[in-house]
Amino acid sequence: MQDLLEMENLALEIVEKRILHWNCRGYVKMPKVLKNGQNINEIYLKWNKLSHLPHWIGKLKNITNLYLQHNQLVCLPEELGELSQLTVLDVTSNLICNLPAGIGHLHRLNCFLAAKNALSCIPDDFQMLQSLQILDFSCNSFKRIPDPILKCRGLQEINFDNNCLTSLPDNIVYLPHLSMLSVCGNKLLYLPFLPFMSNPFIAFENNCNLNYLSIWQGQQISSKSNGIFNPESPWNLPRAQGCFCIVLGPSRVPIGDIRVRDNSPGNGVPLVLPSRLKLISSGQGCQPSVPSLLELALRTVYSLGYNLSIQRKKIEKGYHFGMTRFCSNYQIYDSLPLVLQQQLTVGPTTLCYLCNSPIFTCGVIWVVMKEYYIEIDLDPLSHVLCIIVFCSVSCSSLYSQSERESIIHNNLVSRKLNWFPEK
Ligand SMILES: [Zn+2]
Repeated sequence: MQDLLEMENLALEIVEKRILHWNCRGYVKMPKVLKNGQNINEIYLKWNKLSHLPHWIGKLKNITNLYLQHNQLVCLPEELGELSQLTVLDVTSNLICNLPAGIGHLHRLNCFLAAKNALSCIPDDFQMLQSLQILDFSCNSFKRIPDPILKCRGLQEINFDNNCLTSLPDNIVYLPHLSMLSVCGNKLLYLPFLPFMSNPFIAFENNCNLNYLSIWQGQQISSKSNGIFNPESPWNLPRAQGCFCIVLGPSRVPIGDIRVRDNSPGNGVPLVLPSRLKLISSGQGCQPSVPSLLELALRTVYSLGYNLSIQRKKIEKGYHFGMTRFCSNYQIYDSLPLVLQQQLTVGPTTLCYLCNSPIFTCGVIWVVMKEYYIEIDLDPLSHVLCIIVFCSVSCSSLYSQSERESIIHNNLVSRKLNWFPEK
């Protein structure tokens, strides 16, 4: 009797209302009467005990907002993709380990919150979510940021805090509207060597394996937090607590590509470089100094398709820092072998510090000590290792022999450290 009465009340509510507030009701299933809820726009079902969603959910054609946080969902049905009006989907704090293939059909989905689940991958059709602006995948089990996400060109905020990321994809820097990227509490070994085109705010604290920054990335993060950027002064890295702890101290990084010499011979600080950098030299001695033919070809063909450059413009109070990319004619890549096309589409690993040439797989590497503040005027000055890459030995030596009386130049040259390849 009680149940019948409750069902009647729910049915009445569904007819009369556009928004259903059904939080904290102990539901283990979505009430069946909701099948008739074609007029419903928003459903709040937070803090229930739902373990799955019904297949008829696709009938609720007018839902725009669906809030399901704090349930016990282990998966989502493919029919979810039929909710063509859905703009907000919140499944935070569930047990989801897979997203359904139909999810890419949510063409209006603007905000997808799936923090605190068990996700480690996403279906390929995720890339069809071209309206997606806010994505929260924090506290999941991702080892890398999946490629389909990088094709969601509308993304403005991405949160991957507390996953198992060891690096970020190189081409994440080209997302045109990104304003916030949060990757705190991961296992990052390095950040992308190029600055981000949209100049976003980047939070990366508590990545205890991160022990250096590339000069471009450091300059951008610093300029972002100051509003202006002055290459002569120490960097300001406000969201870097819990990083850079391994400066000339015992290593906690299991593997490394190069080691920077400290005072004890045979020892040193290992720095893990982006995996695409295969052939590196310090620009001195007997190390390889000629770029490979593949590298030279990639540089030339890339420059035919794209024009990528980094600008440090002096303005009244300091410098403006930014990166621009123009597409001249990338169709010329179409006739190339797939493996080269991929390299070219991902773009270069970095740009030469002197001449802005694209660098894909080989370059001359300098490691310098750079001073930084976590919070200007609050924290004491610390040091971070910083990597500068040149396209050739000649660019590296031109820079070090340069007669320019620049303070930046002199600072970098005088803080240069020796490194050797990790065995
Ligand atoms: Zn160069």
